[in-house]
Amino acid sequence: MSDEALQPCPECQSEYTYEMPPLLVCPECAHEWQPQEEEVAEQHPVIKDAVGNELFDGDSVTVVKTLKVKGSPQGIKAGTKVRNIRLLPEASDGHDIDCKIDGFGAMKLKSSVVRKA
Ligand SMILES: [Zn+2]
Repeated sequence: MSDEALQPCPECQSEYTYEMPPLLVCPECAHEWQPQEEEVAEQHPVIKDAVGNELFDGDSVTVVKTLKVKGSPQGIKAGTKVRNIRLLPEASDGHDIDCKIDGFGAMKLKSSVVRKA
């Protein structure tokens, strides 16, 4: 038994719950349940392409629409293949893919403009 307060019963909110490892038990309504883990598993945000496929580091993708690039008159054309992407789950501006594109060098793209190749 630990000194920490046990969770109240999720069914009847009774506070008189007790441990019967690995379950918690409520003596008032006889509900038994698995206690919630204290530490929430680290979230891995899922990054999806334009059609909803999940993307992973190292994937190859195809750009689905022509993108304007500073200093390039033509930009990145739709259909351009991009190999070996790296995902940037922490990206705050929506550019969640780091990659290198032939003729352009290192670029950051939005996952919404690519499609898994
Ligand atoms: Zn209960």
